[in-house]
Amino acid sequence: MESYARGPAFALTTKTTPQVFSDTAHRFADREALVVPHQQLRLSWKQLADKVEKTARGLAGLGLAPGDRVGVWATNCAEWIYLQLACPQAGLVLVNVNPAYRALELTYVLKRSGIKALFLRCGDARSKYREILEQAIHGETLALEHVVYLGEESWDKMIANGVDISALDANCHDVLNIQYTSGTTGSPKGVLLTHHNLLNNGRIAAYGLRFTEQDRLCSPVPMYHCFGCVMGTMAVIATGATMILPAPSFDPLATMQAIHDERATAIYGVPTMFIAQLTHPEFSRFDFTSLRTGIMAGAPCPIEVMNRVIGDMHCSEMTIMYGQTECSPVITMASVDDSVERRVSTVGAACPETEIKIVSPEGAILPVGEQGELCARGYAIMKGYDQDPDATARAVDKEGWLRTGDLATMRPDGYFRITGRLKDMIIRGGENIYPREVEEFLYTHPKVADVQVVGLPDERLGETVAAWIKLKAGETAVEDEIREFCKGKIAHFKIPSCIRFVDSFPMTVTGKIQKYVIRQTEIEARHLEKAASIETA
Ligand code: AMP
Repeated sequence: MESYARGPAFALTTKTTPQVFSDTAHRFADREALVVPHQQLRLSWKQLADKVEKTARGLAGLGLAPGDRVGVWATNCAEWIYLQLACPQAGLVLVNVNPAYRALELTYVLKRSGIKALFLRCGDARSKYREILEQAIHGETLALEHVVYLGEESWDKMIANGVDISALDANCHDVLNIQYTSGTTGSPKGVLLTHHNLLNNGRIAAYGLRFTEQDRLCSPVPMYHCFGCVMGTMAVIATGATMILPAPSFDPLATMQAIHDERATAIYGVPTMFIAQLTHPEFSRFDFTSLRTGIMAGAPCPIEVMNRVIGDMHCSEMTIMYGQTECSPVITMASVDDSVERRVSTVGAACPETEIKIVSPEGAILPVGEQGELCARGYAIMKGYDQDPDATARAVDKEGWLRTGDLATMRPDGYFRITGRLKDMIIRGGENIYPREVEEFLYTHPKVADVQVVGLPDERLGETVAAWIKLKAGETAVEDEIREFCKGKIAHFKIPSCIRFVDSFPMTVTGKIQKYVIRQTEIEARHLEKAASIETA
């Protein structure tokens, strides 16, 4: 038997996002659509539709034209959703910008995607966004024409100056959203995703979870990531379920409080978020009995953590999903009806309307049970990387197969397990980090001659970042000095927590650096054997 599976047939929608949103807003007008406790906000579908309409008119009033790109560089808030749903009403393309980005990363995304209007907050407990933006745009030639501060006068002014939107000739295969990911190599790439990609992916996930308008989803995952803006927004607009955003960025206490107060029926998270709740000293204070289902995804999911979510959080229909930004994101999932064994120890089976195969390095489909690269084909595959046909051709072959860079096996029952990674990527608490990007940044430190970045296993975060640094002749440095150099320039999660100064790197006879030896050396030196042996789905 070959490692090839095709998911069941599913009636894909050819509607656009505004059409689906408008249908749901009419159907469930007085039911609750959005709850944002940290903004003391509670909106029905009718009220949400009104906010979105005003935002779309405001965007048009800025003079933005169909096809223009609008960046949102913000943590989770109601305005994020208004903008997400308003952009397609005005024919604009939403560009998600990671709120952890610092000046260098922000400049890159602004330039690369030609953002005409950027939405952000002046600052919050995490960051002084206005100052970072000033650094990012200093001396740069950019397409940026409008900067609008959420919750400030500039937002109110935009809404007040709204204009009628001219009729749009929208198609479900138009690009709706650009999400940044590093792909399998190198610098971040903008993934072009259409209405058809994202709406159907959200619908299929919602179908897998059996969402109805009675469901109440607690979503602590970031909106800038596909987990938040597709598995969250698209799934709720497809079904009329309520979305609850417990905090601006993940906070275990606020998440548990929201589940308890709002009687949530569904909970999302990367493994680190569930670990943070399960191990929280106040865990037992909260009532989780309303929970029914949810998704764990984004990083290898420890079997034990899944078991505890099902048992201790009463989430009896919990599932794991797997995918990546380039495929909208979800391509494998378990069904809520699957046995607990399948749901905790695999990432599920091929999603509806999706083909999956496991291939050898030469591209041959492997027999069941053999490890190889997981490839996917179907409606969910991205339109391509923005303005990067070469990278697109490397990621998606002529027959439409996307290479994920993940290693996996298929079981005889058609369920998949993720067994490793071909791509050189670290996932720290659900955030992807490309060692090469961090290495290239560290090279710019005046004392650094050479550097190698690897991921180390971690029980809470999944992985952490370690850097081995060779200093230039005669130089000395301390760890903190390197970390200080990174602060404010690259996102906090990319800054190495473990730094070692070395004279040489372990090499093969052919002169290739052996990163796995660096990793193994640190595992032994730091006694990380237990974290390294955690079993995942
Ligand atoms: P992103 O594009 O940010 O969604 O990251 C996608 C990557 O996260 C995948 O290519 C995998 O390496 C990893 N990933 C996502 N979901 C899972 C999962 N359920 N189990 C293991 N790894 C996962």
